[in-house]
Amino acid sequence: METEISVERAVELITGSVQPLGVEEIPATQAHRRVLAAPVRAPIDQPPWPRSPLDGYALHAADSALASRETPAVLRVTDTIYAGGWSGEAVGSGECVRLMTGAPIPAGCDCVIRQEDTDVGTEQVQIFKSLRPWENYCFPGEDFKKGDILLAAGTRLSGNALGILASAGLLREEVSLPVCRVPRCALLCTGDELVPNTLHPLPPGKIYSSNEAVLCARLRELGMEVASVRSAFDDAAALAAEIREAMKIADMVLTTGGVSVGAKDILHETLPLLGAERLLWRVALKPGSPLMYSLYEQKPILSLSGNPFAASATFELFARPLFAQLAGAADLALQVFPAVLDTPFQKHSGVRRFVRGVFCGGHVTLPEGHSSGLLRSAAGTNCLAEIPADAGPLPAGCTITVYLL
Ligand code: AMP
Ligand code: MG
Repeated sequence: METEISVERAVELITGSVQPLGVEEIPATQAHRRVLAAPVRAPIDQPPWPRSPLDGYALHAADSALASRETPAVLRVTDTIYAGGWSGEAVGSGECVRLMTGAPIPAGCDCVIRQEDTDVGTEQVQIFKSLRPWENYCFPGEDFKKGDILLAAGTRLSGNALGILASAGLLREEVSLPVCRVPRCALLCTGDELVPNTLHPLPPGKIYSSNEAVLCARLRELGMEVASVRSAFDDAAALAAEIREAMKIADMVLTTGGVSVGAKDILHETLPLLGAERLLWRVALKPGSPLMYSLYEQKPILSLSGNPFAASATFELFARPLFAQLAGAADLALQVFPAVLDTPFQKHSGVRRFVRGVFCGGHVTLPEGHSSGLLRSAAGTNCLAEIPADAGPLPAGCTITVYLL
């Protein structure tokens, strides 16, 4: 238990310890960004009827046989149909109907000629081109047919997904959709040295707490619900009481600070006070190796090192897979890419190390300042770049792995 385990093993232990939170029904109109828990089927065909994809004339392809600019076919125009209009009249041989884009193609016609290939006549029209049957003819159900799966279970309801629901007439209050429950996460930052931004001037020995700001924002960006945000002194009993309280309204608690081996690293005392089961402590990575993970009444407590960049990096590496599992949302997992390192990494690294970077066009650049206590260099970065264990100084031009945030 005390030896360091790999990042992958830690992620496995964490995700294997919990089940998805379950499903709730919500109105389709409130489902933006949620994850579908069951497939949605189309109640109608789309388009609902044969549709013209362009401005032109609907006709029988046979009537255009041999037509050309030199020897046009001449047809009688019996009607004009606009988008939104309808004609119940069937179109006979030698006849055609003028149509605008989006208008229904009347019965009897099997193709549409674009108006640029005609003389745009009104009573009768000259057709300059011969068409094949079903040319420029959008069939009913071409986009989707009644009964088709429109959106699969696990789909994040993005703008496109909402548009698909809307085109099937499903984006309304009375339609309820089964969606995965969003984890409610409570955040607890520990440390006697921490003060809130509201305290001025900064008292001696104190620092402004920044982990709340980073982690709260990231929780929201990932679509999690922030159940509560509290800070706690380095007092095991007080922290235990805070965690107990937080768990009344939260599905999980995220803590920062107090997980290392110092005299004030109180999580070691707090967990037994809670009766929580510690599943892991210490992972083979830098920064944030003293990561701790426990279960309290089956609910996760993920405890990150307090160092600002360590907290941020381990949040991405370990909290995200946990959220993905709880929320049934595979898209919360970090995306991994190979990247050409543009900035040499000078240090020898005994352990596997994650540094901040900017990933763009298959290349990654690293800012100055990798220490886990530094936050400023994280500004504008968009990935964690992996420096493998026992890698010597890495020259520019080598390929490494990046984890897109
Ligand atoms: P700890 O993990 O409690 O040993 O803290 C490691 C380092 O991170 C110490 O220098 C702390 O002062 C700093 N630290 C801990 N929590 C925070 C926080 N919420 N905001 C900024 N720095 C912190
Ligand atoms: Mg501390």
